[in-house]
Amino acid sequence: PARPVNPLVKIQEAAAEFYHQVLLTTKAGQRGLEYAKSRSLSPEIIKHFLIGYAPDNDSVLLTYLKGQGFKQEELVQSGLFVQSQDGRLFDRFRDRLMFPLQDENGHTIGFSGRRLSNDKTIAKYVNSPETKLFTKSKVLFHFKEAKQAARSEGHLVLYEGYMDVIAAYKAGIHAGIASMGTSLTDEQVYLLKRVSRNIIINYDGDDAGQHASERAIRLFKQAGGFNLGVVSLPEKLDPDEYVKKYGIEKYQAQIRGAQTTTDFFLKQLEKKYNLTNDREKLAFVDEAVNQLAQLTNPVEQDMYVERVAKLAGVTPQSIKANLSRKRRQQR
Ligand code: ATP
Ligand code: MN
Ligand code: MN
Ligand code: MN
Repeated sequence: PARPVNPLVKIQEAAAEFYHQVLLTTKAGQRGLEYAKSRSLSPEIIKHFLIGYAPDNDSVLLTYLKGQGFKQEELVQSGLFVQSQDGRLFDRFRDRLMFPLQDENGHTIGFSGRRLSNDKTIAKYVNSPETKLFTKSKVLFHFKEAKQAARSEGHLVLYEGYMDVIAAYKAGIHAGIASMGTSLTDEQVYLLKRVSRNIIINYDGDDAGQHASERAIRLFKQAGGFNLGVVSLPEKLDPDEYVKKYGIEKYQAQIRGAQTTTDFFLKQLEKKYNLTNDREKLAFVDEAVNQLAQLTNPVEQDMYVERVAKLAGVTPQSIKANLSRKRRQQR
């Protein structure tokens, strides 16, 4: 028999359904629907991800949930409301496109709401606060479905944002997940490890995204046992923007062409150093060899020795000698 649904989930699911219906069927929802359209979210996608709209009003959800018979205590604990000094409740999410967040069994445990306007004085996303159900560091957007898809797709693809997971979904990549805006956590790495050892990191192409990729690689390597791929999108685009600009086929090719982590680091180093300057070239070789020293597969190591030599315009022998010395120092 199916386990009974946690009673705390019921209010989250009622809210998700409410926001979804507001988006699709109400006058107030038209504003949200227009925004959704401007982000190329089709009716099918809106339905599939149960996307909703929280109107610009501080009590519609409150009124609705009270009407559904939820008790004050349940309302307070849900994280859906902010409480004033005198104990009154107000809808937390206002004038936002709502993404319900689920646990790995598909139960709704919280929300993230995106502002519709370009107004930089308000947060782009507002998340549910930490509650008994919702622990931000353990949530992965779209995890339940990605778990199943990973079996046929052969890997999980890690994104920064919800819109990226959705763009990938449109491109037929259903094994996409996103951490919650905060950087990837050890708990999330642990959750992923149980599902697939093959992870493709596809963060945004901007500097923040590339730094976050470096950090994620470090976390996965510390955990050990992963085969990692990294996609660096051009022109600082994020996956959603890339799909919009170049289409789903080009995007699929980006995923198929994911680099090894060594490849990724060498590209970063190439950007960092001016290889026409001897001093910088030496620093480049030094950092590159540090990377190569981590490789345990001799064939892979050989491959990259050649590449570093070519980039620096020196012989592979000198890189190898440098590498052996570094290895001895490490022991
Ligand atoms: P969009 O998601 O609308 O395409 P974006 O690509 O500019 O906007 P980023 O700044 O790249 O968004 O953020 C990526 C992800 O990080 C978001 O999807 C969200 O999960 C998270 N995030 C961004 N800003 C915030 C915030 N202020 N609070 C919480 N999470 C945030
Ligand atoms: Mn970003
Ligand atoms: Mn982005
Ligand atoms: Mn984006």
